[in-house]
Amino acid sequence: MRQFKTESKKLLDLMINSIYTNKEIFLRELISNASDAVDKLNFKSLSDDSVKLDEGDLAIRVAFDRDARTITISDNGIGMTEEELERNLGTIAHSGSEEFKEANAQSQGDAVDIIGQFGVGFYSAFMVASRVRVVSRAYGEDTAHVWESDGLEGYTIEPGERATHGTDVILTVRENEPGHDGEEGENYDRYLTEWGLKDLIKRYSNYVRYPIQMMVTKSRQKPKPEDAGDDYKPEYEDYQELETINSMTPIWKKRSSDVSQDDYNEFYKSTFHDFENPARAISFHAEGALEYDALLFIPGRAPFDLYSKDYEKGLALYSSNVMIMEKCADLLPDYYNFVRGVVDSADVSLNISRETLQHDRQLRAIARRVEKKITSELEDMRDNDRETYEKFFENFGRGLKYGIYASYGAKASELADLLLLWSAKEQKMVTLAEYAKAMPEGQKAIYYAAGDDRERLAKMPVVTGVLARGYDVLLCTQDVDEFTFQSMREYVARDMPKVYEDDAAREAAEKAQADGAEPETEDRHLALKNVATGDLDLATEDEKKDAEEATKEHEGLFDAMKEALGDKVEKVAVSSRLVDAASAPACITTEGPLSLEMEKVLKKGPDGDMPGVPQAQRVLELNAKHPVFQKLAAAQEAGDTDKLKLYAGLLYDQALLVEGLLPEDPVAFAQNVCELM
Ligand code: ADP
Repeated sequence: MRQFKTESKKLLDLMINSIYTNKEIFLRELISNASDAVDKLNFKSLSDDSVKLDEGDLAIRVAFDRDARTITISDNGIGMTEEELERNLGTIAHSGSEEFKEANAQSQGDAVDIIGQFGVGFYSAFMVASRVRVVSRAYGEDTAHVWESDGLEGYTIEPGERATHGTDVILTVRENEPGHDGEEGENYDRYLTEWGLKDLIKRYSNYVRYPIQMMVTKSRQKPKPEDAGDDYKPEYEDYQELETINSMTPIWKKRSSDVSQDDYNEFYKSTFHDFENPARAISFHAEGALEYDALLFIPGRAPFDLYSKDYEKGLALYSSNVMIMEKCADLLPDYYNFVRGVVDSADVSLNISRETLQHDRQLRAIARRVEKKITSELEDMRDNDRETYEKFFENFGRGLKYGIYASYGAKASELADLLLLWSAKEQKMVTLAEYAKAMPEGQKAIYYAAGDDRERLAKMPVVTGVLARGYDVLLCTQDVDEFTFQSMREYVARDMPKVYEDDAAREAAEKAQADGAEPETEDRHLALKNVATGDLDLATEDEKKDAEEATKEHEGLFDAMKEALGDKVEKVAVSSRLVDAASAPACITTEGPLSLEMEKVLKKGPDGDMPGVPQAQRVLELNAKHPVFQKLAAAQEAGDTDKLKLYAGLLYDQALLVEGLLPEDPVAFAQNVCELM
């Protein structure tokens, strides 16, 4: 018996005993080796005239014997001599395993987790096999050799028999292991089924360029006997047939002009287990220093778990038609986590770990291009197929908004133009650019209102007030909306008609235009303003004067009301939003960065009932033109503090109700209403 080198032993031990590993990749590894061996022989035949091959005969076979518990992977490739068996399978000297060892040394704790990410090659056979036998005959040799090992101490190499060149790898599959201590056991029997092997081949090796064949059992109707009577029932029999399991030609290598939409749809549905067609298929091919093919899909609907913790984003990563990672997360930014697809690059090494991936320059370059491509595809959909885009946005818009928020606005330049929001004026979804384009002259900000119900928002006095001035208001009903806007702070509207500082400049421009010059444009920085917070600075000079006068005249009234309301409000003031008798008598607005809606969202969050949740600074704004205001002033003048207190409480509570918030003390509110009656 020949001994394994010490480091090989360590690796084997790790591999066999790591219970969390993705053991099923063993088949992919062995099939990849077989495909490489066939490749080598094929290549030799191209460069060496003495090698005569019929390319059509090149194939890989997978067979299993349930009783003997064996799986055999055979190829008619280049094979191995005795020396090669010794060198290749006796030591771990090749790059993949070396890399594995290095990464493993750095992160002992995560060892079990990272093994599955490697091209660990031939040794992965020992994850599922208690014994491995390799029968190989090198091309051009007369004799074969048998390498055999239990993967523990060492291996033997003996002369053997094989009819033609090539290699058989015969695994003796381990017995099932029962689970214990709440841990799941290991079911190895599933590899000894036609279904189990077919599934693995399709999943991991579907696009290997040589046929992977397997004997499969099929059923057929027996011929009807001559003398069959009227009551003859058809009989069936099983038979065996050699079937090619893999599809061989990867759809992503084809030019999109050569692929029908139906083919893309079928590929998408079968590969990503969706029953609905994708909204879009995006195929592209990079050439030059880094070559790869990519096929991406924007799903037609959101998977049920998209917004759950367990959802895993990522694109399948292939290297030379072999899948090396089912979900490579680094290829997709979080806000495009819904995209499914495949990236295939011969330049990406098979022997790749999650750690090295993150630092992989090539992969980052691919990820950047993927992101750009998705963005431009979405822009195209937005501009040319609005209906589909609106549906897309309904499904995935939340993630885009969250992307802006989570990047503290850094991603706004990429994502802001993809947003759709409900326009109160247009009564439909609009982009920020469309909002900006429709603004009347003089409008300096984008106005929005946030709350959970569109209808209710549309009726709020703070909203109708802004609408009455001719400015549109975006009605935001997702909890992330306002956080997104706050992290953006502003929106830069491109190509807006230029606004001239003074009349002279304007006249000069008008003259130039009359002489045939193009109208000038500029980028306009528009603040995003919640209509219920801070000073909107919308009041006309007259309104401002009126408000100042009312404030001066009724100073005592505001102080008294603030006193009556106590800590509930920061202050009580004349409203610059409610300026005519027909609108509401009062409203609650806020000062500072936190709006009432944001406070609501935070309270609903996981830390919502903790004492530290920040409170919005409320302001009770009074409509000085409303008849109620006269009543308040009268009560104040008469020194009727009880009445003033009652009115203050009622106004505050009803303003809360309009905001969709409950009065802090509903019983007191009800009593106050009765008292009034
Ligand atoms: P890797 O494929 O990463 O080099 P493996 O452990 O999978 O590492 O295989 C080691 C070597 O053994 C291969 O590089 C190849 O030379 C040889 N080998 C493995 N399987 C076969 C096969 N089916 N036919 C011929 N050579 C093989």
